Amino acid sequence: MRALVLTATGGLEHLAFADVPVPELADPGDVRIRVHAAALNHLDLFVAKGLPGVQHQFPHVMGADGAGVVDATGDAVTTVRPGDRVMINPGLSCGRCAACGAGEESLCDAFRLLGEHRPGTAAEYVVVPAANVAPVPAAMGWAQAAAFPLATLTAWRMLVTRARVQPGETVLIWGIGGGVAMAALQVALLRGARVIVTSSSDAKLERVRALGAHAGLNHATLDVVREVRRLTDGAGADVVVDSIGEPTWQSSLRALRRGGRLVTCGATGGPMVGLDVRKLFWHQWSILGSTMGSRAEFAAIAAEAAEGRLWPVVDRTVPFDEAIAAFHALAEGTQAGKLVIEVRP
Ligand SMILES: [Zn+2]
Repeated sequence: MRALVLTATGGLEHLAFADVPVPELADPGDVRIRVHAAALNHLDLFVAKGLPGVQHQFPHVMGADGAGVVDATGDAVTTVRPGDRVMINPGLSCGRCAACGAGEESLCDAFRLLGEHRPGTAAEYVVVPAANVAPVPAAMGWAQAAAFPLATLTAWRMLVTRARVQPGETVLIWGIGGGVAMAALQVALLRGARVIVTSSSDAKLERVRALGAHAGLNHATLDVVREVRRLTDGAGADVVVDSIGEPTWQSSLRALRRGGRLVTCGATGGPMVGLDVRKLFWHQWSILGSTMGSRAEFAAIAAEAAEGRLWPVVDRTVPFDEAIAAFHALAEGTQAGKLVIEVRP
């Protein structure tokens, strides 16, 4: 089968198309999916660069997000059958540890991601546990179905499970345009929050205003902390979503109200930050980490999609032949929404 692979770590120059064997079911609980579309994530850039502690078998098939048609099922699979349209939860867990037993799969001792630790979705076929798929809503196309799982699941856990955003609260989201930030905007609005977003691009801010953001701040030209204070009568934001890290961290803390929550799922701008503990305890801030989500949270977002309440924003879809160029576009970061590869037209 045709696949987009990494031939070595070190960067996007090691991406190539290759002919690799069609994957076989490895477990009675597995399903094989004929992939229609795969979506790109910032994670893919880290995978291409090389992550500490992750060993690949080369050629390594890229891609965490995908959607397609069930092609084969293991003997123990009862939840889906061949021909079903499904989208894939990229989080893989052991099913045996205490965290898995408690339904907290993303806290599993052996938590892994499709396309990072296992062959991914940027190929004609992929094998995953049946527990990792959910039905694609009838009204949802392949590009949206592929774009939906990782970013929406991550945003859902950050805002609903970890930060427990309440109606009427103010949420600040840095760096709108990326998949997780866009999904975070939608989840926060769904929970009834007021959302302030930032970007260095006025064009992105304009586009996002149409999605319902209450304010858009250009962080290249405005003092975000001062603007957030102004927009909240001096109080500050209830929740800040900061997955950039080093460049934004201090401003995130200064933009928080007393008792506010800062939630993070990434550090695209650098991982090392400072913290004045006196401010942490005096202002009674909560600093919350979050990674991916559980099976129950995946079922929750799939249910929201089925009702049409959560729907991913796709920036553009490219043919499989142009997938490598799409990864370079992702690295440049000019998109507002997800980049999707059409694996099967
Ligand atoms: Zn586990």
